[in-house]
This record gives sequence, C-alpha cells and structure tokens, in this order.
Amino acid sequence: MCTSPALETATDLVVSPQRCLSDDQYRSCAYYVDPAKLQEQRKKKPEYVRTKPCIVISGMTKEPKIGCEYAAVEKTEDGFFVVYCMVRGTYLTRWDVELCEKYWKECPFRHLEKKFSE
Ligand code: SF4
Repeated sequence: MCTSPALETATDLVVSPQRCLSDDQYRSCAYYVDPAKLQEQRKKKPEYVRTKPCIVISGMTKEPKIGCEYAAVEKTEDGFFVVYCMVRGTYLTRWDVELCEKYWKECPFRHLEKKFSE
C-alpha cells in the first residue's frame, strides 16, 4: 500500500516494488513528497496534507492507547479508530500503532520533532 500524503487515500494501484524499495529511485515517484516540504506545509496549514485513512490497513475496533503527544486518535463515521501521526503527516497502519503503543518514548520521529521544534 502506498500511503503518500500526495494521495487522497492509500492505494496499491501506484505501487511499484522495484521503485518503492529502491535506495534512491523512490524519489522520482510522482507521489513522493519531500519530508522537509511536508513539514513546512503542515506547519502552515495542517489539514492541507491530511489524507483520508485507509480502514483496511489503519482501522481498529479497539481504541489504541499511545502516550505520544503527536498521535491523534480519531474515530471514523464507521466506528473504527485510526491514528494520525502529526510528525509523519500520515495515518498510521495498525502495525505502526502497535509499535507506537509500546515504544513511543524511543520513537525517532518523535525525537526529531522535539529536537527541531525547540
Ligand atoms: S510514529 Fe512516533 S511520533 Fe508518530 S505517533 Fe507514533 S510514536 Fe508518535
């Protein structure tokens, strides 16, 4: 699944494993968004870069408990819980959420955000 913030919703239609998993070719993808530019856009207008969550990979029936101040837990109209990471600028997958619940204090994204927002 591609969860690029350039897409309205996550999809596998644009995925090309050869390009996506390459060391540098992924930057040539039309859906690649420079993290620094994304960060700037998010600071200016946070909702501009928010995509819709893909329930298949991000929806949960149980409310997650994450101590991270950058995790926004939301409930969809269908009653699923989803988590938006304000640092990564995307909805997290269920697998990401499991890691955030356990290791949010060690999360490198959180550490970088705290470091550069001081
Ligand atoms: S990925 Fe890191 S910064 Fe984002 S919500 Fe999870 S713990 Fe927080």
